[in-house]
Amino acid sequence: MNILIVYAHPEPQSLNGALKDFAVKRLEDAGHRVEVSDLYAMNWKPQIDSADNLAYVNDGPFNPAVDSRRAYEQGTQSQDIAAEQEKLAWADAVIFQFPLWWFSMPAIMKGWVERVYAYGFAYGVGEHSDSHWGDRYGEGNMAGKRAMLVVTTGGWESHYSARGINGPVDDLLFPIQHGVLYYPGFDVLPPLVFYRTGKTDEARFRQLCDTYGQRLDTLFSTPPIPYRQQNGGDYEIPALTLKEAFAEGQRGFGVHLKE
Ligand code: FAD
Repeated sequence: MNILIVYAHPEPQSLNGALKDFAVKRLEDAGHRVEVSDLYAMNWKPQIDSADNLAYVNDGPFNPAVDSRRAYEQGTQSQDIAAEQEKLAWADAVIFQFPLWWFSMPAIMKGWVERVYAYGFAYGVGEHSDSHWGDRYGEGNMAGKRAMLVVTTGGWESHYSARGINGPVDDLLFPIQHGVLYYPGFDVLPPLVFYRTGKTDEARFRQLCDTYGQRLDTLFSTPPIPYRQQNGGDYEIPALTLKEAFAEGQRGFGVHLKE
């Protein structure tokens, strides 16, 4: 299978660097084809601006969404964006590996999402009607592909537990997993989170690799997170609220999981 690893860490000799190298070898040894988008090494440009459209015409205020659609449709996107979209089209599974920085992905990776996820490619896809509100949340151009987050933290597992001070990890990752990944159609696997990684010795590193290796070995058999499909009948359209009959009396991110 084809696997893309989108990876963000500025230091090749970091724990993340070592884990990424381990993952590449494990996947290749299993017969997969692997591409790595090493965002710092690529000197990835994180900010959206008019240079992202090679045919940009300054005929009014710059609108990132409108210009993204124009460039995508006309084939005038900057080469770095088009190359990443080709990698996504090629991939059967995408792994996003990063250290948790301020409770989210590093800014360079967020900038990868903002620029590579063009209008017409990752959003603004499909028809809108009374029963179908675009191809998104379970449908879209990434449908049939799998995605998984691999995240290292400084904080302890308990800090990210149901009553932990940082908030539950599934809540913190919801905007990435449900918003960034499920929205354009990925099947999202449960995340692999390595907690309390600040002081990792050789023995612990081997444990982390064992766990990572098991998740890579089961990349195509692990059941995805059972998010509800937007157009599957569970939501009112166009309000896009969960129908009263489901998760009665409940609120919060958890209601978007099938019971
Ligand atoms: P490194 O610092 O490279 O290494 C961690 C440990 O692993 C070190 O002991 C190192 O010696 C060891 N190691 C490295 N390579 C190997 C190897 N090959 N074999 C054995 N041991 C090795 N944490 C949170 O929990 N929540 C946050 O919101 C958060 N925000 C942050 C924001 C910023 C800007 C920064 C800089 C850090 C933040 N942190 C946060 C902490 C951060 O998540 C961790 O520092 C990070 O996940 C550790 O990963 P690393 O690859 O940088 O580790």
